[in-house]
Amino acid sequence: MVKKIALEEHFLDPGLVDYWWPTMVDVARPKADGLFACLTDFGDRRLDTMDKAGIARAVLAIAGPGVQAERDTATALNRARGSNDFLAGQIQKRPDRYSGLAHLAMQDPKGAADELERCVRELKFCGAMINGHTHGKYLDDRSYDVFWERAAALDAPIYLHPADPVAPLPAIAGYNVLARPMWGWGVETGSHALRVICSGVFHRYPNAKLILGHLGETLPYQLWRFDSRSAPYGWELPKPPSQYLKDNIWVTMSGMYDLPPVMCSVGALGRDHVMFSADYPFDSAGAGEFMDSATMDEGLRADIAYNNAAKLLGI
Ligand code: MN
Repeated sequence: MVKKIALEEHFLDPGLVDYWWPTMVDVARPKADGLFACLTDFGDRRLDTMDKAGIARAVLAIAGPGVQAERDTATALNRARGSNDFLAGQIQKRPDRYSGLAHLAMQDPKGAADELERCVRELKFCGAMINGHTHGKYLDDRSYDVFWERAAALDAPIYLHPADPVAPLPAIAGYNVLARPMWGWGVETGSHALRVICSGVFHRYPNAKLILGHLGETLPYQLWRFDSRSAPYGWELPKPPSQYLKDNIWVTMSGMYDLPPVMCSVGALGRDHVMFSADYPFDSAGAGEFMDSATMDEGLRADIAYNNAAKLLGI
């Protein structure tokens, strides 16, 4: 087995449970109960799964949406801080196997920046995971400049995780099966990343780093179209869209264990911008086996499985 770092590996702490259960509305109760048991375990169950998949280190992040669903900003800030302290306590028990991504109350951009800094400097977390928009506000909003500036200064990557859109997409209305992981989340999250690019965040903060799951939420497939069709429609940033994707965006697999999109991402973004993740416990079955057996040269396999994440996250 190739040695792996997995970096979209979920957990729940007691303070965030009430935000998570509504996301299970489409999931049968016995399955949801099984997921809950996995998410709240930091011992043998999780470590055995990692061992079987050859995962040397799991980078843990909450199962969303967490406090981003909270209406009261002070409560969101307090609970995010509590969640990060909880995770730090779990990592302390197995620092050889676990790392962490911060959970942030994006209702308060400066508060989120301050908590990110505390998590990186004091708790030694690798970055943060953001679960999509916060009450309709996306990460391109200029109020988040304070956040991006801090993330760039800390060299802390921001993992943008899928979430439900503000309102259901009219184009897929009537097809519940399309609304969430099958299609809707990818459109929502890919669009969110494009907003960040188009707003000039990566022009203003060239060291800002964004991680996307699902091998880039379809964006790597579209680079030529982004470049050829942006200029005639009012593109004003100094670099073409594809260059911001190549310079500022990294992608992980999160449940897309399929070679063509892996190779598309490698070709589009570069071999050092594609990383392994298992999305434990949601799409983790088969993750390790795919990474070990997919047809690719051994240097690329080692880079995707371990080296790229180690370099990006400073592990
Ligand atoms: Mn996930």
